[in-house]
Amino acid sequence: MPVPFVDLQAQYRSIKAEVDEAVQRVLDTSAFILGREVEAFERAFAEYVGASECVGVSNGTAAIQLALQACGVGAGDEVLVPANTFFATAEAVSTAGATPVFVDCGPSTYNLDAAKIDEVVTERTRAVIPVHLYGQPADLDAVFEVAKRHDLLVIEDAAQAHGARYKGSRVGARGVAGCFSFYPGKNLGAYGEGGAVVTNDAEVARRLRMLRDHGSEQKYRHELVGYNMRLEGIQGAVLGVKLKYLDDWNALRRRHAARYRELLAPLEESGALVLPVEADYAEHVYHLFVVQTDAREQLQRYLSAAGVQTGIHYPVPVHLQPAYAALGHREGDFPRAESQARRVLSLPMFAELTEHQLKYVADALADFYAEASAAAG
Ligand SMILES: *Cc1c(COP(=O)(O)O)cnc(C)c1O
Repeated sequence: MPVPFVDLQAQYRSIKAEVDEAVQRVLDTSAFILGREVEAFERAFAEYVGASECVGVSNGTAAIQLALQACGVGAGDEVLVPANTFFATAEAVSTAGATPVFVDCGPSTYNLDAAKIDEVVTERTRAVIPVHLYGQPADLDAVFEVAKRHDLLVIEDAAQAHGARYKGSRVGARGVAGCFSFYPGKNLGAYGEGGAVVTNDAEVARRLRMLRDHGSEQKYRHELVGYNMRLEGIQGAVLGVKLKYLDDWNALRRRHAARYRELLAPLEESGALVLPVEADYAEHVYHLFVVQTDAREQLQRYLSAAGVQTGIHYPVPVHLQPAYAALGHREGDFPRAESQARRVLSLPMFAELTEHQLKYVADALADFYAEASAAAG
């Protein structure tokens, strides 16, 4: 039985009539860039995360870059980012003109270890970007405590954590800005590129709206040199429909994660697999269900032959990427991030997964380890 890693078509089929109608409204009004559908989505999404403002932008990477720039972070500044994140978190720091400074992750979750921030803060450090990696909120109390001591801005990278809660509150709204991606495969995905920044700071929101639109508030008057990083009307319309289903989809992801835990418990107990740890402060939304194993390459090949698609998020930590060679990092600098990069494997995870598929994936994993131990004699 083939089990895809994600199934965007199954989701589309479940909301087709509503999405088609929303897209048709955009076609009928020709509001292709920003416009009413985008504004309506911005209001709904701000309310959803509990922020006063939301500014729709062209993608999640732009969201982070513009958030930094709207807060005045740029050339000469250092910004702390996790060593184990998608490349875009650090890349956006660089394209904002600042320098990323890496921090290793904690021992049990995959999120940035706030206790390591003191070691790397300098007089140039302006901000820290906790990433709610795989859908699990970072330990925000710990991050904010250190940030306050060093007078750092906190900009959340919530690109994988739409709707996740930290101690009851949805992530994204606590720092000076929270950044979201609506890449199609994310928990809330557009039908193309999309992103947003949420904030409770009206001045930051005003600068974001200018930066995304050629530095302009008033047509043909340019207060600053900005960008063309606007959210499209069709994406706003699609996102407006999908936002209504996000909590249901996240609840299904949580249910599938719980089922994986039951089915994979024997492999966890035997030490073959490390399952994700859900921190007591977190309501994880399982953008990804990531396990760790010593036999990652063999296991991935075995699952692939059985028709089960998996992913690796991410095979090379950011500090060891060729693009950051000039920063002079070496293997060994961030041992936890490096060990995880060798061991992590993401299993199929999406709201429409069936019990049949979950069972099939778990059985394939069990078969792999049974055959491996038989071969080892
Ligand atoms: C997806 C993602 C981004 C970038 O979002 P895009 O919309 O693809 O530009 C940034 N950070 C993290 C953690 C992501 O997963």
